[in-house]
Amino acid sequence: MKNYKFQPESLMMSHGYKPELSEGSIKPPIFQTSTFVFKSAEEGKAFFEVAYGIRAKEQTEELGLIYSRINNPNLEILEDRLCLWDQADDCAVFESGMSAISTVLLEFLKPGDVLLYSSPTYGGTDHFIQHFLTKIGVEGIGFNAEDTKEDIINSILKSGKKDQLAMIYIETPANPTNALIDIEVCREVADYFSTEEREIKVAVDNTYMGPLWSHPLQHGADVVIYSATKYIGGHSDLIAGAVLGNAEVMTRVKTLRTFLGNMASPHTCWLLLRSLETLKVRMEQQMRNAREVAQFLNAHPAIEKVNYLGLLEEGSRAYNIYIRQYESPGAMISFDIKGGEKEAFQFLNQLKLIKLAVSLGSTESLAQHPASMTHIGVDPEVRKAMGLTDKMVRISVGVENAADLIHDINQALKQVKTFERAEAMTANAI
Ligand SMILES: *Cc1c(COP(=O)(O)O)cnc(C)c1O
Repeated sequence: MKNYKFQPESLMMSHGYKPELSEGSIKPPIFQTSTFVFKSAEEGKAFFEVAYGIRAKEQTEELGLIYSRINNPNLEILEDRLCLWDQADDCAVFESGMSAISTVLLEFLKPGDVLLYSSPTYGGTDHFIQHFLTKIGVEGIGFNAEDTKEDIINSILKSGKKDQLAMIYIETPANPTNALIDIEVCREVADYFSTEEREIKVAVDNTYMGPLWSHPLQHGADVVIYSATKYIGGHSDLIAGAVLGNAEVMTRVKTLRTFLGNMASPHTCWLLLRSLETLKVRMEQQMRNAREVAQFLNAHPAIEKVNYLGLLEEGSRAYNIYIRQYESPGAMISFDIKGGEKEAFQFLNQLKLIKLAVSLGSTESLAQHPASMTHIGVDPEVRKAMGLTDKMVRISVGVENAADLIHDINQALKQVKTFERAEAMTANAI
C-alpha cells in the first residue's frame, strides 16, 4: 500500500494544501495579501537567497513566502495540482494564456534566433510572432500539419538558418480543423538541429485538447502551455494561462514571470482551484456529448464535412498520430455546412441553447464562425490551404443534455434557407 498512487482526479480536492495551516478550513482561503511577514531577519534573508538564485535550495527546503508577485499560497497550490495531470516537475500560472505564451517565447528566444512554428497558430500567438518577435529580430518559419519530417528539415536547410533555430512551437490539435501535428517528429527535428551549445526547445500549446487526454511532455516536448481560460477554468468566468515542464526550464520561465509580473492573482487562482475539482467530470461529459453531436452532424444531409477526432479514418496518417498522442477525441468539433457564409450565419443566428461566442472548453456549448471571427486575421491563402472555409462552423460542446444539444442544432439547420429549398426541390422531383 505504501506505493499506492492516487489518480489526479482524487487529489484535486486536497493536494498541496494543509488545513491545519489555515484554521482547519477545508478549502484554501483566498490569500488576498501583497506581502508576507518573516519570523526573523535571518529567515527573510534565507528566502531571498533562494528566490534570487544566490544559493540552491537545501534538499527539503521550500521557497518561503515573500511577496505575491513571487509566490502566494493560492498560486502555489494551483501549480502543484496542475503538475499532476501532465506529470510535470513544475508549473507557472499566468494572468492569461497569452502571457504564458509570450513569456515562454521571450525566455527561450533572443535577437537573431529562428522560431519554427506550426501554422496557423492561435490569432494572438500569430500576432506576437509576426508583429512583435520580428521587431526584436526573431524570425518565424511556419510549417503545416501536412508537412512530413523531411519537409520540415528541408525547409530549415533551405532557409540557410539552421544554426539559428532555437525553438519549435506547435499547436495540436489545431484550431479549428483538429489537424494533428506529431510531437515526436518535432522532437526529432529539434534533436537533429541541436548542438552541444544550442539545445532547441519544443513547446506545445495543448489548450485545444486540455490536460486530461494528452501529455506532450511524455512525447518529448520541453514545455506544455495552456490557456487556462478554456477547459481548466471551464466556466467562462476568468482569464488565465499555465506553463509546465521540467525543473530547469520552469526555473527560467518563473524567473522571467517574476520580472514581467504577469502571474495570476490570488482570486483567479482560487477560482481555478475550484474548477480543477470538476475538471475530469466536466471534460468527460463534454466528450460524451461531443461524440453524439459529431455523429448526428456526420449523418445530416445539410452537412458536408465534420472535423472531429472521433471520426478519423482508421489507418490514415492523422489517425496514427491520434492513437499515439491522444486518449480521447475531446469536445471540439468543426463542420462545413452546405452553402457558404450566408448559410453558416443563418445556422448560427437560429441557435437557441448553444451560445454564439468565441472561446471554448466551458460548461456551456459555444458556436462561432472561424473565417469571420477567430481566424479573420489568417491569410486567405493559408485559410484555404488548411481547409478553413467560409461555410465552417466551430462548436465547443458543453455539459448540457446531449439530446437537447442535438435538438437545438437540428432546429437551426432546418431554418437554413437553402436546405429548405433543396429539400423541397428533392421532394417535388420525387
Ligand atoms: C484562447 C487560446 C489562447 C490564448 O489564451 P488567453 O487565455 O485568451 O490569453 C492561446 N492558445 C489557444 C489554442 C487558445 O485557444
